[in-house]
Amino acid sequence: MLDYPGYLSSILWFCGCKLSCSYCYNPNIVLAQEGQKTEEDILVFLSQRTKFIDAIVLSGGECTDYHNILDFCRELKQMGFKVKIDTNGTNPNTLQSLIQNDLVDYIAIDYKAPVNKYFQICKRDMFDAFSDSLDILFDSNMDFEVRSTIGYNGIDVHDIQLIADDLFKRGYKKTYFLQKFIKSEQILGCAEYSSKPFDCSLLNTSLDIEMRS
Ligand code: SF4
Repeated sequence: MLDYPGYLSSILWFCGCKLSCSYCYNPNIVLAQEGQKTEEDILVFLSQRTKFIDAIVLSGGECTDYHNILDFCRELKQMGFKVKIDTNGTNPNTLQSLIQNDLVDYIAIDYKAPVNKYFQICKRDMFDAFSDSLDILFDSNMDFEVRSTIGYNGIDVHDIQLIADDLFKRGYKKTYFLQKFIKSEQILGCAEYSSKPFDCSLLNTSLDIEMRS
């Protein structure tokens, strides 16, 4: 009931991801070689629940890395579901195809770090791909949100200020969501809780900012 506000959703977690974020709390999913369910298993499961579920949230890992993501979303749409994807934005071409073919209804994209810190946080030099994805979203009519994770020792208020400035420059008019880092038993990298509490009042921006716990 939380992942796609307004819609009762099932969440599918796709294994694998090209990034290796220091704060990632899904190492089992990111590092898994294969999933626990086949596409067919999932479609059969969902076909028996079309009356009860409004939407499917594709999360991960990174769902746009999945080789058959376009056809899979098409199947979900044909079953009458709304489709939301959570993405790190590293596959702009796939994102473009999903949007152009009307295969998704909502996109949540993670703005993980400003360009100068992207490699440090994500361990892959993919800011340009992410930036292209943002451009695609801004050039489309797609309903989307941008979100960042805060509260760990890799990101501070200054970094979020840089992100907010960039979003403002690109014309972002929606809510910018900040979500708190949760140190679970296992994380992918070496993130720790930040020693200083994150003080939102230090941000100088006219963007609408909302904290998510
Ligand atoms: S937090 Fe980073 S490493 Fe983990 S799934 Fe998301 S993009 Fe991949």
